[in-house]
Amino acid sequence: MNDLKDIVRKNILDLVPYSSARDEYSGQEAILMDANESPYNSPLNRYPDPRQNKLKEKISGMLGITSNQIFLGNGSDEAIDLLMRVFCNPGRDRIIIIDPSYGMYKVCADINDVGVDFVKLEADFRLNAVRILGSVRPSTKMIFLCSPNNPTSNLLETEEIQKILDRFKGIVVLDEAYIDFAGDEGFLSSRKDYPNLVILRTLSKAWAAAGIRLGMAIADPEVVSLLDRVKYPYNVNLLTQEKALDILDNEKQKNEWVEMILSERVRLVKKLGKLAVIKKIHHSDSNFILVRVDDPDAMYGHLVKGGVIIRNRSGLTHCEGCLRITIGSREENKRMLELIKSF
Ligand SMILES: *Cc1c(COP(=O)(O)O)cnc(C)c1O
Repeated sequence: MNDLKDIVRKNILDLVPYSSARDEYSGQEAILMDANESPYNSPLNRYPDPRQNKLKEKISGMLGITSNQIFLGNGSDEAIDLLMRVFCNPGRDRIIIIDPSYGMYKVCADINDVGVDFVKLEADFRLNAVRILGSVRPSTKMIFLCSPNNPTSNLLETEEIQKILDRFKGIVVLDEAYIDFAGDEGFLSSRKDYPNLVILRTLSKAWAAAGIRLGMAIADPEVVSLLDRVKYPYNVNLLTQEKALDILDNEKQKNEWVEMILSERVRLVKKLGKLAVIKKIHHSDSNFILVRVDDPDAMYGHLVKGGVIIRNRSGLTHCEGCLRITIGSREENKRMLELIKSF
């Protein structure tokens, strides 16, 4: 990787971040007359910890990393946006996104006036590092990878990811939102070997907590501190911080849910495979299945009419005829299967 200061926007390097009252004093047991808060215990009268220390301590213990490698945001979507703002000069710098993948990368880039180069996955959704590296331009600051990938549902090949990490001089963002469903530990333990690697994780999928909006970026402490400088001071609210501590206390529950989804995945693949209308079931390492049918619009409409909403992904690269089905509860899956059978 290049020296970090060569790839960060100059205005961000020079930035004097906002210093909140709770940044300047974070001790306990004092009379707080520094933040113009209400003194009445509503009980939400106080600003939350802007550094989310307790929560980071908890996560660092769980993941076996230090707190200073963790950025916490309002969903991983916040981390994606902040990465663009820290590294990419609007109107000048560019990013590479694998195609097809998660739509937020492009939307965030467009909002920030960052150029996008899409690089196709292979037709069977494998990652081709040489093709990605061949598309790097002098202005390319970041490469976005997603493993397991959305909507293709497969893990990307470790060796191909490593090639990109070894040879690209900018930041590699590896979105591991679905890693809990993959039976693979992902890149967390090799993160330290790659100062240019940013791993995204979220509580929105396996942890069943999309409603509280908590995502994280795991990165080199220098990168984390840049993200922290740019974020809103109180970006993770008090309710979310408290609830997340409760949720993370119950890893056993999360693992049970993951197990149930994985066993439903096996069952669904078997059942869907018997239906003539399903032309292909792509291998899944996630909590959703991508299937190909002859008439995706008609099948989508049929399911909606029956009260089951899935995602029509047939317009995306290499996804002709494809529908993305999130794995639901046993009952929900039964209903979905019945509907497909009655098509
Ligand atoms: C669902 C999803 C996320 C989660 O985003 P949050 O903002 O944390 O809810 C991130 N990346 C991908 C690829 C996803 O599909």
